[in-house]
Amino acid sequence: MGVESEQVWFDGSLIPYDQANVHVLSHTLHYGLGAFEGIRAYAQEDGTAGIWRLEEHMIRLLQTANMLRIQCPYNKSELEEACQEVLRANAFTDAYLRPLIFLGAGQMGLGARGNTVHTAIAAWHWGAYLGEKGLKDGIRLRTSSFQRNHPNAVMPRAKVVGHYVNSILARYEANDDGFDEALMLDTQGFVAEGTGENVFVFHEGRVYTPPAVNILPGLTRKTVLEMLAHEAIPVVEQCFGRDLLYVADEVFLCGTAAEITPVGELDRRIIGPGGCGPLTKKIQGLYNDAVRGKVPWLSHHITRC
Ligand code: PMP
Repeated sequence: MGVESEQVWFDGSLIPYDQANVHVLSHTLHYGLGAFEGIRAYAQEDGTAGIWRLEEHMIRLLQTANMLRIQCPYNKSELEEACQEVLRANAFTDAYLRPLIFLGAGQMGLGARGNTVHTAIAAWHWGAYLGEKGLKDGIRLRTSSFQRNHPNAVMPRAKVVGHYVNSILARYEANDDGFDEALMLDTQGFVAEGTGENVFVFHEGRVYTPPAVNILPGLTRKTVLEMLAHEAIPVVEQCFGRDLLYVADEVFLCGTAAEITPVGELDRRIIGPGGCGPLTKKIQGLYNDAVRGKVPWLSHHITRC
């Protein structure tokens, strides 16, 4: 699936897709110091586009930029409006939105300061991130040989361009070995997250998920926690090893791109009965309804445009 669209928002204006280019000496292209987000919009029942948790995505984007000491020239509400403009300009209802704050050309070197800060927001149609079949029947996961970034080397709660080298190495390794996605362990060997998703494990009536310490605390994770609380299902946020997944009844990954993706297998061990278990199915159904405005108690997370 392509990433083409009619218009891209670039430094305050909508410009044609083909003109949304950067110089080869853009600082972020060389060193990875940039902030980005991944957001989804869904067609609502009345045919309008609704952006899921837009404000929180913009808060995380600006927090990431701030942690990187990049001063974004746009504030939260200007960025929220820009996301809506991109959708309207492309007449998108179901779309993936990719805001990016990056440093342009001018100075090179790690100590360079004062390069122009650019802000871009693109949107495109993006189907099931880990495949339609994966969403339905569950994916095959492999524990990565690459460790998750150490929290004292990077800032896990920041969504930084360069952090994703670690994720891509793990994803390539898993895919090359015939698996759909990688499970990443932290430097102590505890389960951290997927390469672009958080992890939930259902075992003996409780749901386990790693604490928001050395992971990206995802907004989908936040939604799932809200849903589990609403369903009165006990949740334990604690460290655990990969062996908990081996004996679990159900495991699923969640993220803006991956939505709620069941995990049928980890390291060639079938999880529960394999496929998509009943709890995962319930959360998946609730999530799919919520993002389309069909769950009244969660509809405040939708920004219509
Ligand atoms: N962990 C990582 C490493 C990610 O890249 C993502 C995707 N942003 C997530 C978790 C899930 O975050 P969210 O639900 O906010 O998309």
